[in-house]
Amino acid sequence: MILDQKIIDRYDLDVGLEVHVQLKTKSKIFSSDVAIYGDDPNQNIGFVTLAHPGALPKLNKEVIGYAIKMGFACHCEISTDFIFDRKNYFYPDLPKGYQLTQDRTPICVHGYVPVKTLSGGERDIHLFKIHLEEDAGKSIHVPGSDRTQVDYNRAGTPLIEIVTQPDIHHAEEASAVLTAIRRLVRYLGISDGNMEEGSMRCDANISVRKKGSSELGKKVEIKNMNSMRNVARAIEHERKRQIAILEDGEEVISETRTFIADRGITRGMRTKEELNDYRYFPEPDLSAVHVSDQWMKQLKDEMPPLPEELFRLFTESYKLPEYNAAVLIDDPGMAIYAKAVFEQTKNHKSASNWLMGPVKSYLNDRSMQIADFPLRPDALVALVDLVETKVISHTAASQQVFPELLKQPEAHPKEVAEALGVLTEDGDEESLGPIIASVINEWPDKVKAYQKGKKGLIGFFMGEMMKKTQGKIDPKSANAILREALDTVEVGK
Ligand code: MN
Repeated sequence: MILDQKIIDRYDLDVGLEVHVQLKTKSKIFSSDVAIYGDDPNQNIGFVTLAHPGALPKLNKEVIGYAIKMGFACHCEISTDFIFDRKNYFYPDLPKGYQLTQDRTPICVHGYVPVKTLSGGERDIHLFKIHLEEDAGKSIHVPGSDRTQVDYNRAGTPLIEIVTQPDIHHAEEASAVLTAIRRLVRYLGISDGNMEEGSMRCDANISVRKKGSSELGKKVEIKNMNSMRNVARAIEHERKRQIAILEDGEEVISETRTFIADRGITRGMRTKEELNDYRYFPEPDLSAVHVSDQWMKQLKDEMPPLPEELFRLFTESYKLPEYNAAVLIDDPGMAIYAKAVFEQTKNHKSASNWLMGPVKSYLNDRSMQIADFPLRPDALVALVDLVETKVISHTAASQQVFPELLKQPEAHPKEVAEALGVLTEDGDEESLGPIIASVINEWPDKVKAYQKGKKGLIGFFMGEMMKKTQGKIDPKSANAILREALDTVEVGK
């Protein structure tokens, strides 16, 4: 069935996400085995990981702190007392035959993640909960063979699972939630949040309902989406598939489906009726956890500034355009650096353009992080301010002073500009007059053409002036004086 947009528009989409984030701790959640990505298979597999009889789990305190910080960042209510539960099922990558997770006492409940909407506004995506659990091992299907190998390194590495309410109504909004979550875990330093490497994974519960109906439709769970783009693609495909079923007068079956990325479709894996009963029950080998007031306070004190706070600071106090603020807060290192820059200058907008332009391209060209950027914020501020006070032209600053400064980051930008001989000559009529006159004398035909309406020639004249002065003039004031001269001069007499 081919759906036209009119039919699609008769339905609303409801999506809830379950996002698993691997926590970057040194050891696993219930054992001292190292939790490292990319080791040779089956290196980090002690008695607890392999579920030897009698091996006892011991809780890694660090994961509690990480999860609570994520709870603070998502405006959750934090539980001070909780336990772990066994979720029983059989799968070869699960040596114990159960996963330790949190069923009835998740560490964080409620809360929300603010995201930018398509129309440019902001909306809070509400959460059900964030809980802690352990990861399973990894099944590796050997290509060209009917065998599957199992790597238990990942078994027992710590995860938080963030469960949103069915509060997402566009495929792009789902990507926005994932972007926001990834940004938060990176700001907190608790995970790499890298979907391609599997340190962040996402399942989506998707349903559609006739516009105006308040009852949610039958939901389908989609697994196996390993990039933000694929999450959006899978949701978009699934939405249309479900609408087509309903338009045919049939019912959507509640089931788990897998996304097949190269074909852009979803395929059924199992229906909910066939699902396991997990027989959750409290883990008897771990005692209940209590988080003291003192511990909670310490975690609160350790919270870094969050992206939404910095966004507000950049747009409200520093009056940056939202776009600039959004770009700068995307990476926590860049956001902190930018904050330090803005604190030291009044030229916030142009400083932000320097960060997004020359600084970012320098970093990108070298696949470098801002932490390794040679210039301190105050040196960049000095350069920006020299341009804004017209001591150096923007062209000379970006093409000559900035590259040279990066080679000698301890030097003052003004000294570097002086050594390069690019300090601006006065931008007044007196000093520019003779230069403008000589350009006009050299190109009388072009001046006539300009006066007859070919105003684009202004660029040509500016270029000539730049050549004559080796770029040492301030383009803005030169431009104004040049236009005035071109409009009033009489040539060809
Ligand atoms: Mn889970």
